[in-house]
Amino acid sequence: MSDTVKELHEKRMKLWDESIENHKKYIDESTGLFFEKYTKDRVCPVCSSKNEIIVFNKEGGTYVKCQNCTMIYLNPVFTDKAIVEYYQINHTNQSGVVESDTDNFYINIYNNGLDSIKEKKPNLNNILDVGCSSGTFLDLAFERGISTYGIELNQAEFEFVKRKGHTVFNELLNNVVFDTKFDAITMWDVFEHIIDGEFYLNHMSSLLSKDGVIFLQIPSSDALAAKILREHCNMYDGLEHVNLYGVETIKKLANKCNLEVLSIKTIISEIGVINNYLNYENPYLGNTKNKEFIPNLIDEEKLLETLQGYKIQVVLGKK
Ligand SMILES: [Zn+2]
Repeated sequence: MSDTVKELHEKRMKLWDESIENHKKYIDESTGLFFEKYTKDRVCPVCSSKNEIIVFNKEGGTYVKCQNCTMIYLNPVFTDKAIVEYYQINHTNQSGVVESDTDNFYINIYNNGLDSIKEKKPNLNNILDVGCSSGTFLDLAFERGISTYGIELNQAEFEFVKRKGHTVFNELLNNVVFDTKFDAITMWDVFEHIIDGEFYLNHMSSLLSKDGVIFLQIPSSDALAAKILREHCNMYDGLEHVNLYGVETIKKLANKCNLEVLSIKTIISEIGVINNYLNYENPYLGNTKNKEFIPNLIDEEKLLETLQGYKIQVVLGKK
């Protein structure tokens, strides 16, 4: 493993530790769960069923599985008031990780995503990136001659993106009145944070131009790594990742919002992480010396082909 990859891993782990540290003041030590005053109960965010089983507890939160549609979600979740306060106090700065991207890990992912969008919407005049962070994706879109719009709630990142020349808003998506419709609306690692995904999908759909598309990148509860590692998998943080869609559940939600799936794929095998875990190591320490065993059992290409990669990328269009 190169030093830069190791550094990236270490930066991600530091962010993770900070984020988990932030949970502590919300947790009732006698139960290990969040104090009830911060939370509310809910039904399945995809099919509205109340029929759920507990999968595991993680850092104060409880993940459940819907017995009707298989959706994995946090229940209870933070109330609207508590979650706004939480993000105001505890914004972890993901942009630092993206900016130290010397191996072009994120750049390649963004470029591939842009290619998937263009495949379904070739004449792409403008793009709105919701939760644009430091604007790296918007920079790439701009380089390709696309007009760029962003939404970013974090004040410092908002200012940063604005200075780069993108049109950016420091408000919730549903509070902004746009003077244009969009050929593409993207959400990179944001949709899993949204409690009412149905509302947001419907709203984004209403902002699309004719033949416009929605692109989502989300962690997948169908990922082999997630299923093997379960509560040890870092997609389950217990608080911020409230909805963990899988391949079928994201399709089901899209369908409910009158959207059709134009393309769907998964990226990032996480074979190294699985390998570490099955060799009794810290799964997120980077590739350890136990290299051979698991990779030989798992065909990486097949894993991605069968949609068991760590993240789903889906392009949706209006029916
Ligand atoms: Zn359900």
